[in-house]
Amino acid sequence: MTAYLDNNATTACAPEVVSALLPFFSEQFGNPSSMHEFGSKVEGAIRNARSEVQQLLGAALDSEIIFTSCASESNNTAIHSALKVQAGRKEIITSAVEHPAVLSLCKYLAEHEGYTLHILPVDGRGRLNLAHYESLLSERTALVSIMWANNETGTLFPVLKMAEMAKGVGAIFHTDAVQAAGKVPINLKDSAIDMLSLSGHKLHAPKGIGVLYLRRGLRYRPLLRGGHQERGRRAGTENVTGIVGLGEAARLAREHMNEEWTTVKRLRDRLEVGVLLQTPYAFVTGDPDNRLPNTANIAFEYIEGEAILLHLNHAGIAASSGSACTSGSLEPSHVMRAMGIPYTAAHGTVRFSLSRYTTEAEIDHVIATVPKIIANLRKLSPYWGESGPAQKAFQPEYA
Ligand code: PLP
Repeated sequence: MTAYLDNNATTACAPEVVSALLPFFSEQFGNPSSMHEFGSKVEGAIRNARSEVQQLLGAALDSEIIFTSCASESNNTAIHSALKVQAGRKEIITSAVEHPAVLSLCKYLAEHEGYTLHILPVDGRGRLNLAHYESLLSERTALVSIMWANNETGTLFPVLKMAEMAKGVGAIFHTDAVQAAGKVPINLKDSAIDMLSLSGHKLHAPKGIGVLYLRRGLRYRPLLRGGHQERGRRAGTENVTGIVGLGEAARLAREHMNEEWTTVKRLRDRLEVGVLLQTPYAFVTGDPDNRLPNTANIAFEYIEGEAILLHLNHAGIAASSGSACTSGSLEPSHVMRAMGIPYTAAHGTVRFSLSRYTTEAEIDHVIATVPKIIANLRKLSPYWGESGPAQKAFQPEYA
């Protein structure tokens, strides 16, 4: 029995996506920029895909959708562009829990290019403080970049409100919506969001395709210059199979959005309750009241996430851990650290992330397997005594 529960890392292509894109590897191989029939057929398919993405995002115009190679490229493009078009403003606001595709670039710009960076902290549930945010906004703010949903905990951020507040001081608002797109209803045309990034491979499209939404009329500087593709806003011959696949994935995501909040959420909740009822000294991280329906990030105290993952892998279960092996020492993730989760718990976090393809049988397998793995690993832990923790357990504020 296997269970793929790492959908926040990447998703399987939907079968419909594979069928839609396959002809563009063979008979429909034309370059969409070509004047002949081979090209124009492909150009039509790209137009359809753009319209599907426009609808998924509730954008006013399909010309607001720019295809890129991935969300990292979209994030980099958005941030560089926002800073270039507002040369007089030198401040950036972001959060402590952004993906490195935003956070590491912002830190680089602060260290090497003279920008002032304000990193908003989060509380124990991973929530931002809007009063603190308001106090940082000023006429000096060039850009605010805040993710829509956190990839580790699933915590949702009030980006609509935050975009309104940024608009009040004339700053550009960008959101990394990689984990939210396809799960959370998005209606950009009625929002103050200026730029948004998403990634195909997180919503059952192939890897290597991303989107940058650019509000009409927003001043913009391309990152990649060259050919006139994407109306001169992103040079490079189009990744046609990726674009066609993403178009179909966007259509399917709209069709299945309700399932995320019914079937998928019910399975996720069953996983959490099933595991936690059998496992002492474990808790769910993130905002329990406001998070993605597919994500369960569980901290198992007194053991290492890496060890849990190895045992899970052995049992056919794919998940992720919140720690990364950096320079020989196991550091808990920056998200867990920002939330103030102590090392004894942060080291043992495991993220289970579901999709609409997750089955009851997969969840049964996890519930039957995980508590045993945890109990066995704790027997080997130096922090674990004869019958319980050898040191005081951490109590999350909402436990
Ligand atoms: N932003 C978030 C929130 C993510 O989860 C990821 C991928 O894990 C990315 C950005 C990067 O996406 P891509 O792989 O398309 O560059």
